[in-house]
Amino acid sequence: MHDETLGVHAGRDVDPATGAITIPLHLSTTFERDADGGYSRGYVYGREGNPVRAALERCITELEGGYETVAFPSGMAAAFAVLQSLRPGDRIVVARDTYFGVRELLIDYFPQWGIDAAFVDANDAGALREACTPPTRMLWIETPSNPLLEVIDIEAAAAVAHRAGALLVCENTFTSPVVQRPFRHGADAVVHSVTKYLSGHSDVLAGAVVFKEAGEFKRRVRAFQSNAGSTIDPFSAWLTLRGVQTLAIRMRAHCNNALAVARFLESHPAVTRVHYPGLESHPGHAVAKKQMRGFGGMLSFELRGGRAEAFAMLANLKLVARATSLGGTHSLIEHRASIEGPHTRAPESLVRLSVGIEHPDDIIADLKGALE
Ligand SMILES: *Cc1c(COP(=O)(O)O)cnc(C)c1O
Repeated sequence: MHDETLGVHAGRDVDPATGAITIPLHLSTTFERDADGGYSRGYVYGREGNPVRAALERCITELEGGYETVAFPSGMAAAFAVLQSLRPGDRIVVARDTYFGVRELLIDYFPQWGIDAAFVDANDAGALREACTPPTRMLWIETPSNPLLEVIDIEAAAAVAHRAGALLVCENTFTSPVVQRPFRHGADAVVHSVTKYLSGHSDVLAGAVVFKEAGEFKRRVRAFQSNAGSTIDPFSAWLTLRGVQTLAIRMRAHCNNALAVARFLESHPAVTRVHYPGLESHPGHAVAKKQMRGFGGMLSFELRGGRAEAFAMLANLKLVARATSLGGTHSLIEHRASIEGPHTRAPESLVRLSVGIEHPDDIIADLKGALE
């Protein structure tokens, strides 16, 4: 089935009890036992399972073309659940431009538990192969990356990881399964900040991990969800199921708008560089064309000058909101170095733009005014 149809139907049926077309919101934390003490209806307690959470997990699984999804209360909770499956003595190799929150977990928390992280340029094939030596258990990539929009060849990364006996984990937050399906290119698990495109309206915090197959890795992450109490609340799951119904048509609008905005910025004299994989000038354009359908709604650009010029431009905007986060209907912009702090790789002159689904002419007019 096509993405448009999966977004509306996957994981959900008409409610057999009432005929309701949209899935009922089940808030009950506990579920009745059968007379013989069993749980034939499949649910016991809210931390272990909930019908809305289960529907969301089935829906994301179908959209990504995976085996099973485990949903979390945030993207960071999803990332943490994946990382805790590592054991003392293991090493994880991480693409250097990975989301700063994930890098901070690996720098601030995991070394004390004997897990070593190596950060590499995942586009440098030699460096990547050299880093992925025993005891590497996991290679973590994010493409396009945040905030520099570097494109990593997923298939090439999978080959290196698998040759080393490691798992490839691919963050798909910036693209959503409509634009990119990492399982088709060899990934073993896909991580989402569901907060972003999947829910899509800047009103849900959630995360998810999708697995290619059953096994010990999936079992450990699923067990962590209930044992650590890292479970998404039913209303967030319900709102995500509502948002995901328009995912395919939203992504089409995000991609078209972002390309128009990127072309405008590339031609503007106050802009020195535009990072958007849909531009022919982007070093990852050919790989992006191979593994993406459309180029997503995220871009970043650098202004002539530095931090002061970047903040001055942001202060002049009227439509595009100065706010962190991404993937919602509203266009959002932010100065990335100042939010990421000391470990940032973002230049001071760089701003990141999540292009919303407003009319592209209105977004461009706002940027044009602010750049003057
Ligand atoms: C936002 C984001 C996260 C963190 O997700 P939360 O839902 O905010 O916890 C992780 N990775 C990427 C790429 C993100 O954009």
